[in-house]
Amino acid sequence: MNRNIPDPESEIRALLRANIRNIVPYSTARDDCQARMDIYLDANENPFDSGVNRYPSPHQPQLKRMLSAIRKVPASNIFLGNGSDEPIDLVFRLFCPPGNSSMIQAVPTYGMYSVAAAINDVDVIDAPLSADFSLDADDLLSRVRSDTRLIFLCSPNNPSGNLLDRDAIVRILDTFSGITVIDEAYIDFAGSSSFTELLDRYPRLIVLQTLSKAWGMAGLRIGMAIAHSYIVDIMSRVKYPYNISILNQEKAAEVLSDPLAAADRVEELVGERKRMTEALAVLPEVEKVYPSDANFLLVRFRDKDKAFAELIKAGIIVRDRSSAYNCSGCLRITIGTPEENDKLLEVLGGAVVGHGSPVSPGNRTASVFRKTGETQVCVRMDLDMFRPPRIATGLHFLDHMLEQIGYHARIALDVICFGDLETDDHHSVEDVAIALGDCLYSALGDKAGIGRYGFSLPMDEAEATVLIDLGGRIDFQWNVDFRGGYVGDVSVQMFPHFFKSLSEHLKCNLHIKACGQNDHHVIEGVFKAFARALKQAVARIPDSHDVPSSKGWL
Ligand code: PMP
Repeated sequence: MNRNIPDPESEIRALLRANIRNIVPYSTARDDCQARMDIYLDANENPFDSGVNRYPSPHQPQLKRMLSAIRKVPASNIFLGNGSDEPIDLVFRLFCPPGNSSMIQAVPTYGMYSVAAAINDVDVIDAPLSADFSLDADDLLSRVRSDTRLIFLCSPNNPSGNLLDRDAIVRILDTFSGITVIDEAYIDFAGSSSFTELLDRYPRLIVLQTLSKAWGMAGLRIGMAIAHSYIVDIMSRVKYPYNISILNQEKAAEVLSDPLAAADRVEELVGERKRMTEALAVLPEVEKVYPSDANFLLVRFRDKDKAFAELIKAGIIVRDRSSAYNCSGCLRITIGTPEENDKLLEVLGGAVVGHGSPVSPGNRTASVFRKTGETQVCVRMDLDMFRPPRIATGLHFLDHMLEQIGYHARIALDVICFGDLETDDHHSVEDVAIALGDCLYSALGDKAGIGRYGFSLPMDEAEATVLIDLGGRIDFQWNVDFRGGYVGDVSVQMFPHFFKSLSEHLKCNLHIKACGQNDHHVIEGVFKAFARALKQAVARIPDSHDVPSSKGWL
């Protein structure tokens, strides 16, 4: 082992304020005793049940479990705060000795970084973004001082709306030896991957996200810091013990249980963003609409005071950002509902051009919601349309395999599962397969005009054959040898179980044969071949309106 390279925990520890390093957190009797009790006389609560007479969980395990599946990061890497404003304040309290440290922010940017810095008596160094709001990593890095503890980057950036260049951010992560915070409050509107993917490579990186924007829960005040588990642990020691109320935890869990509804609303807002960008750009009063990856537009007006006053008169409030660096004459306009956006266009004298009509679904669509004591699964599909799959089961390898089904069968497929992964992968894999089978069966409807059969393919050294008959007979054959016990986070025993459960619920013949040297290739070949077989079998044959059967019915 190279003794000059510290392990990530020692590296982070060295950056902490000395008084925080060994902080002893406030502890509760329930922390000390994990077993479930019948009578709670430990916390001086009122014993009469009102739904809120008990303190909330300080660790929010249910929310973290759900967010872990949705965000595809381990729960131990998630800190939950009272809005992301709480972790913004905490990073100063953890890493910046008051009166003796500085932070750098790329301006113009979100105002809370400098407010939190001022409260914590930390110097603020502004590194200007260029005229088009792009990030110059070398210029920013040239401003680092010996007392600089933090760099704040906001991507997509508020108020400019643009994603910062990924390579420029990576250059900062590679070079700066302090803590880099990337605020991804608006990442869900950007269609770009999160920097959480790079946490293993950069333990001094903290990614902030929030439930306030895409998730529509600004009123609940829940934000996240996604970071190395040691940073999460220290943040948890420093925060107020009960920082998220029972009602907020419960309501957030309810909204998170339907992530597909939130994704649909994001899609609609992104469509509206495009429409508004085009409609505003042609107004004579508008000088420039900056390209946005967020849920707002930064718009430069010839006379922003006139535009602002007209909007106020019509009862519409937008944000004047003209005093921010490089934003003279600019208003920041949040994307509203289509009706709200029309009203704003009307007031500004614009033409109300047609709302982005959502892609109309085909008639072979279905959705299945399955809830048991162990899992909660939602599957949605459209056999006649393709869009990138939206998959989150908490099992990374299963997610990867289900994505293969969406991509290679060329169907729209969404699968969300919140399961008891603390037990093992069994219930999640089985219940996803059951819900997927039920959903396919339901989407196929009367099966009129389908190809019915269908595939064999090589996957590097491995090869896989999947034969399917959607005619209605149920039979399952599995002839696949694995060499190890797990592929990724899924046990290999679960793969035959997955396809057997699926074939029973899809009511089909499914014969699967595969061999190869590498288990990952073998099972990926099986999922891809299954997807191709499915694609052929569900495809409608032109001019064929019956079910292809010599019996005339199935
Ligand atoms: N980061 C950015 C970039 C923001 O624009 C905002 C809110 N406007 C926040 C963080 C704060 O979000 P929260 O509601 O989670 O405190």
